[in-house]
Amino acid sequence: MENQANMPAAPGNYTENQMLGVMLVGLGEYSSGQLGPALKETKHCCLKAVASGDPAKRKKWQQEYNLKEEDLYSYDNFDDIKNNPGIDIVYIVLPNSMHAEYVIRAAKAGKHVICEKPLATTVADCQRMIRACQEAGVKLSMGYRLYFDHFNQEMMRLGQEKVMGNIKRIIADDSMDVGEKNQWRLKYQLSGGGPLVNNGVYCVRAAQYVTGEWPVAVSARFLPKTDPDKFKEVEEGIEWEMEFENGLIASCVSSYSRNGNLLRVEAENGWFELEPAYEYEGLKGKTSQGDMDFPAVNQQAVQMDDFAICLKNKEESRIPGEMGLRDVQIMTAIYESAKTGKKIKLQLAPADNLIHI
Ligand code: NAD
Repeated sequence: MENQANMPAAPGNYTENQMLGVMLVGLGEYSSGQLGPALKETKHCCLKAVASGDPAKRKKWQQEYNLKEEDLYSYDNFDDIKNNPGIDIVYIVLPNSMHAEYVIRAAKAGKHVICEKPLATTVADCQRMIRACQEAGVKLSMGYRLYFDHFNQEMMRLGQEKVMGNIKRIIADDSMDVGEKNQWRLKYQLSGGGPLVNNGVYCVRAAQYVTGEWPVAVSARFLPKTDPDKFKEVEEGIEWEMEFENGLIASCVSSYSRNGNLLRVEAENGWFELEPAYEYEGLKGKTSQGDMDFPAVNQQAVQMDDFAICLKNKEESRIPGEMGLRDVQIMTAIYESAKTGKKIKLQLAPADNLIHI
């Protein structure tokens, strides 16, 4: 797509050996614990800049990652990144409802974007974000790190290639004890939902990448609240079914008041499962034929390198914004079903995006 006249040119024409500059926006736990350290291991990109509202945090990152003063941004001067040619990729790691604003601002500054999950808190926001990136001629990728983990890749292979025959049943659980009461994850305005959108999104995604298909309907129920004061604004737990065209059901659950981390697939001639399935490391896989054995990878490092390689080769990311949009459409329907008690039929994005499973 052509750049609009008033927009800076999108970065492009990279050389094979170039280290693309990444900017992290939001220096909370995920950036500090995972993405920053991963960017010390990446081979196609490196940390170039950060944005945070906290000057002390910016200073700390400057020292740890040897950043230049002019590469430290606040949210107020964020738009000045358009004048910083060293930034190629902006990675949005803010609370969920802030993703839309910052993805759009990054796109308007002519930067390629990675956005954390969930892409946004509404379908309309997802569509605006995708449109803004298209109009700016920049690429939008999701932070779906499990696409780069060998155990989850094996689940995709076993399921999509029907190695053990047709899938009969999928069971998925991603739950965590959410912890203290005042965090943004428990505030609807910032999170857009409870465990479904923060953890359950992994189950929603896994059911699709194991089958290689999109669901056609969902039904769901909220679980009873054991701490109604803590869970005033979002659900404490939710269980849902995703129904596929051939009648296959994925039974999923996600809770904020216990731990759980399972992806199990039962097929005609055997079963395969991961437990834990969605962690950063320490994944374990078993099949009815024996244990899985794969080397550990730094999921985030491979994920960011993969996007950098896509940009160098001018290829689409295999985890594009459209995939994030589809998951938000599905989760919106799951909430609608839990609220109304009705099964909700899904009408997802056009079929030519089917390659993005
Ligand atoms: P966090 O609370 O640790 O960090 C959020 C950051 O946003 C903080 O630096 C905070 O200062 C900043 N912020 C700016 N405005 C804010 C506001 N109004 N309220 C609260 N914080 C504000 O959260 P996190 O765990 O780093 O999560 C950030 C994003 O990353 C979320 O979208 C989350 O879903 C995603 N995430 C993804 C993974 C993954 O495995 N892919 C893991 C954790 C988090």
